[in-house]
Amino acid sequence: MKKMPVLFVGHGSPMNAIEHNAFTESLSALGARLPRPKAVCVVSAHWVTPGTQVLKSQHPRTIHDFHGFPKPLYEVQYPAPGAPEEAEKVASDPEIVKDETWGLDHGAWSVLRHMYPKADVPAFQLSLDERRGFKEHLALGREIRNLRERGVLILGSGNIVHNLRRIDWENPHAAYDWAREFDAKVKTAVDSHDAGSLAEPQKWGEALLATAHPTVEHYLPLLYCIGSTDERDAVSYPYEGFDFGSISMRAVLFGDASVAR
Ligand code: ZN
Repeated sequence: MKKMPVLFVGHGSPMNAIEHNAFTESLSALGARLPRPKAVCVVSAHWVTPGTQVLKSQHPRTIHDFHGFPKPLYEVQYPAPGAPEEAEKVASDPEIVKDETWGLDHGAWSVLRHMYPKADVPAFQLSLDERRGFKEHLALGREIRNLRERGVLILGSGNIVHNLRRIDWENPHAAYDWAREFDAKVKTAVDSHDAGSLAEPQKWGEALLATAHPTVEHYLPLLYCIGSTDERDAVSYPYEGFDFGSISMRAVLFGDASVAR
């Protein structure tokens, strides 16, 4: 089997789950274009735990983990089957604990429902261990890279720039200079597969990192993507842009996606 590509998606607002816009169209196009995966392993910004956990549910529930949004968003169900056998293999690492209580959070389903609207591709999640530093997240990304050989799509779901405190509702597609600067540094590092720089974003400036990511959970999924790929994986950007000044919507595709399903 050919190695699966790896995808990072900037998921942005939960409303993208039920809206149709250029970003969601890019997700639909990816779902149609990428080789059809046996399962999707989602590393979502919205599942942060002490220690790493892997979701082993046969039928993951749809988690509506946000507040104050319109009712239709709470009515969305994404009934994709789980992938307990794959989760079991990931959990062969003694540091990874199996979990059956989580489900698919909006970092997963707001993206997957555009990529696989029939909810017919099994999906499971890997949590972000709040005790790990950047380099340790990258190292875990390296450990899970063999999922690709088993036909599993690794999907990192976060945002390359994510500062909700600086949201500019008046300018839906503008970007602050610091947001452009951080996004550009990430892109330069991704272009040259410079995993070392991506795992030390504080070296681009502590203040810049703190402004781009007051908390880092939306950045971390990218480290799993870079960790599970190498310089032989071609890099492309299926979507680029900013929402509300302080959110980068950049998506990154690693690997050969030329094979149709
Ligand atoms: Zn989010």
